[in-house]
Order: sequence, then C-alpha cells, then structure tokens
Amino acid sequence: MDFDSTLAEAWIRAIAAAVDEERTRLTELDSAIGDGDHGSNLQRGFTAALAALDGLEPAGPGAVLTKTGTTLISKVGGASGPLYGKAFRAIGAALPEPAGPTAVAEALAAGLDAVRALGKAEPGDKTIVDAWTPAVAAFRTAAATGATLPEAAAAAAEAADRGARDTVPLQARKGRASYLGERSIGHQDPGATSTALIFRTLATTTR
Ligand code: ADP
Ligand code: MG
Repeated sequence: MDFDSTLAEAWIRAIAAAVDEERTRLTELDSAIGDGDHGSNLQRGFTAALAALDGLEPAGPGAVLTKTGTTLISKVGGASGPLYGKAFRAIGAALPEPAGPTAVAEALAAGLDAVRALGKAEPGDKTIVDAWTPAVAAFRTAAATGATLPEAAAAAAEAADRGARDTVPLQARKGRASYLGERSIGHQDPGATSTALIFRTLATTTR
C-alpha cells in the first residue's frame, strides 16, 4: 500500500472526525494549563480543511496536505494553527507520489522540522514536539526494517501516545503553558495530545 491522494484525504477526514469526538477533552486539557481553546481551534481548522478539500481539483497526496496546511494557517488563530499548518504544508511538499513507508517517514520528519523551525521548541519543553519526535523515530525505524505503511503508522501512533502521556511531569517551556511555570507540571499537554490523535488517525486510516 502506498500513500496516495485517497489516503491523504481519508486521513484529513479522520482527523476532523477525531477532533470532533475529542474536542471536549482537548479543551479540558487546555483549560488546565492554557486558555481552553485547543479543541475549538482544531475543530474550526479541520472543518475548514474539509470544506477546502471539497473544492479541490483532483490532485496528488502532496497537494491535499499542502491545502490542509494553508487552510489551518488561515483559519486558526491560536499557536497550534500556524504550527500544524506549517507541518502539513511541509509534509505535503516532501511527499512524492506514490509514497511508500520510507518516503512517508521522511515527509513526517519534514513536518516535525517545520514545527521546530517555527516554534523553536526542544523535546522536553511540553509541546507538540514531545509527541511528534518519538512518532517520527518509530515510523523511521519501522520503515527501515521493512514494515508496511499500516505497521509503521501503528508504531508511530503508539510512540506519539506515549510521548503525549510523558508530558505530564514536564514543566512547559514554550507557549502559553510556560507562563504557569511549575504549575504546568502534572497536566498532559493539549498539543502533544492532539498530535497523538493525528498519528492515531494515520494508523487507523492506513489499516
Ligand atoms: P494557544 O496556546 O494560542 O491558545 P492552542 O491552545 O490551540 O493555542 O495550542 C496550544 C498547544 O500548542 C500547546 O499545548 C502546545 O503543545 C503547542 N505549542 C505552543 N507553543 C508551541 C511551540 N513553540 N512549539 C510547539 N508547540 C507549541
Ligand atoms: Mg489555547
């Protein structure tokens, strides 16, 4: 199985559905250490992304993801809009057609690079980076050892989930949560949690 435009579109639709479902949880997490808008930010963004895809001429998987990124940047005011927007644009730009597991791993790594270039967060800063970094590492390792796309995506989803859970004891050093200092400790980061969701839907979509 290759990553083609049908899969790219199915992935974005699955993210939108998952964000709808998990909106309350994301908002609760962001209420604890932020301003309580992460769920609604992502819902607004991915709902707009779906509408944008409906109007898109048939195009390759890269174009689907690039369009998604551009839409997120223009529709989401919070920190996560530009970060995820740049990430999806970078994934789209890096994705050849058709893309096998190794190419998808490298495209997801380009997405992480884009998040880091914009947000300047290091692993351990309690951000999106803490879920995305282990997910890329797991995806790469799986792809390098001959895993199929669903297998690599499942490994990445597990790693992202663990990465998100591992943000609980961390003190935030980037974004709104960093204003809380030590009071950010003991809560799971909303952005790392939504990144885990994004990788989880990639796994379920490729399966
Ligand atoms: P805002 O903080 O503007 O309200 P959101 O609530 O939508 O935006 O997103 C908050 C999430 O954004 C945080 O939980 C964190 O994971 C992520 N984030 C914030 N700043 C950065 C950064 N510099 N790099 C990576 N991720 C970040
Ligand atoms: Mg917020």
